[in-house]
Amino acid sequence: MFGKNAWNKYEGKKLDELMAFNEEYKDFISKCKTERECVSYAIELCEKYGFKSINSYKSLKPGDKVYATNRDRNICAFVIGDEPMEAGINILGAHIDSPRIDIKQNPLYEKTDFAMLDTHYYGGIVKYQWVTHPLALHGVVYKKDGTEIKIAIGEEPNDPVVCITDLLPHLGYDKNSKPANKVIEGEDLDITIGHMPLNGEEKDAVKKNIAKLLKDKYNIEEEDFISAEIEIVPAGPARDMGLDRSMVIGYGHDDRVCAYTSLRAVLDTEKSKYTTCAFLVDKEEIGSVGATGAHSKWFENLIAELINLSTDYSDLKLRRALTNSRMLSSDVSAAVDPLYMGVFEAKNAAYLGKGICFNKYTGSRGKSGCNDACPKFIAQIRNIMDMNDINYQTAELGKVDIGGGGTIAYILGNYNMNVIDAGVAVLSMHAPNEIVSKVDVYEAYLAYKAFVKFAE
Ligand code: MN
Ligand code: MN
Repeated sequence: MFGKNAWNKYEGKKLDELMAFNEEYKDFISKCKTERECVSYAIELCEKYGFKSINSYKSLKPGDKVYATNRDRNICAFVIGDEPMEAGINILGAHIDSPRIDIKQNPLYEKTDFAMLDTHYYGGIVKYQWVTHPLALHGVVYKKDGTEIKIAIGEEPNDPVVCITDLLPHLGYDKNSKPANKVIEGEDLDITIGHMPLNGEEKDAVKKNIAKLLKDKYNIEEEDFISAEIEIVPAGPARDMGLDRSMVIGYGHDDRVCAYTSLRAVLDTEKSKYTTCAFLVDKEEIGSVGATGAHSKWFENLIAELINLSTDYSDLKLRRALTNSRMLSSDVSAAVDPLYMGVFEAKNAAYLGKGICFNKYTGSRGKSGCNDACPKFIAQIRNIMDMNDINYQTAELGKVDIGGGGTIAYILGNYNMNVIDAGVAVLSMHAPNEIVSKVDVYEAYLAYKAFVKFAE
């Protein structure tokens, strides 16, 4: 069903199922605030559903359920289909990195009796939104001997949190007269982490006290920050929003809402004609670069491994498998905000509550940099949606020439496979707390489930 409010379909038991699914999703985003946490959670979920690591298979046959990970930051889950891999794979690809603030490699300093951590933001954040909030620290520290220390401080009700301070309005006249993108500059996003001096110390006594605490409690030396990856994110769990509990407010819906629903769609689907796949990638927010971004060769290499476990391997089989694949680039859309109607073109915009949103193209200024999906493929998708009674909508990212953005769609499109962007509409995207509609979360899950069963 195109362009209609999806809530009208839900009452009684169906509404209960929708709400119950969202409770499971809330648990996921409340616990998974980094790529690594998403991957660990996904591994647990895969194993609960009977998926086994690729390393435990000597060969693969239809119906086998397999997952593979890459550097703790990517995971792929597959159900092997009846057709050989060469016939193509039904892929759901989503990203599990979200905009945030990272700490620098040499971060710790003291100023006016405060211990501070210097930071470098990650992805497209609106800097002034990140000050004065309780923030948590999540990540890993690697010692020289290879020991990994996991960090998650600020999520339990009794945990301490950290914060980026801001100037009071009484003294903020000059600062607040600046344009919004200059009010808080990148180097102003330092974190206050302590102010109690170490007894008997004269110089940098507060910093020394924090260094001692890190050593005593976590076995972390100051130099270990060089080989650490610590992400500063909003503290606390996702919550119901609206007196009718119709929405979820929380950190990282972009793009963990599509990652969770895509993963669940593959886990909840038994064997299909074609092999099905949920592919969760990292680094989308900074250009899909590096070993764990969508541009990495990891996915292609993994498909080669799967072919090798299923049949006699050849390079041609790999190329055919990729070219014959179909993919939904599961990523969020910018939802129309009643307070800021001016940036949207109402007929071609995403709305909370109208179900999964397809973007034929994103890009900016004349569709630059987008994956412009093939209309024949879109017609097949429309058919799948309607046959499964799924509410869907189509959108562009704002009015022409207003702005724009990109996803991983074109990167997998480079393999010559059919790809279209398909995801959940989000309000306040990239803010510390983003908002989605529960009905869109559930409809996206149902849409992804219908897509992976796609059979020509
Ligand atoms: Mn995204
Ligand atoms: Mn984003």
